[in-house]
Amino acid sequence: MFNDFTVSFGHPLATGLISPRQVCRKCMKALTVLEKKVHVVTIYHSERGSYLGSRVTKFCWKCKIYEHYGFWTENSIKHLDISCLDNEFFISSEDTAFHMSLMRQCASLLVVGAVSYICYFIQSELWLH
Ligand SMILES: [Zn+2]
Repeated sequence: MFNDFTVSFGHPLATGLISPRQVCRKCMKALTVLEKKVHVVTIYHSERGSYLGSRVTKFCWKCKIYEHYGFWTENSIKHLDISCLDNEFFISSEDTAFHMSLMRQCASLLVVGAVSYICYFIQSELWLH
């Protein structure tokens, strides 16, 4: 409904994140879309700001593999798709996704947040000298 509303104004805001994979990565059987397992995701976009989207899960009944947008889980262990950084969005948690352009704009800040300040300071000093 919200999607229809935004489309009517020429600015679609709804985003559905679903794996393009049609068959299981192990047994090659067709994946099932779990329509009851649609999760609401907060999406952070460099141009649209933040808004709500949907994350849809696919499943292989034989291998018990859950396919998500950019990753899959098997035995509750999360595995990233090797090409996940080529996607338009990156799912950082169960309910958060970032548009890749925003990730690129904030890359240096994310790196700073991922290391301690002293490591960042030392690295900055090394760059300056
Ligand atoms: Zn399978």
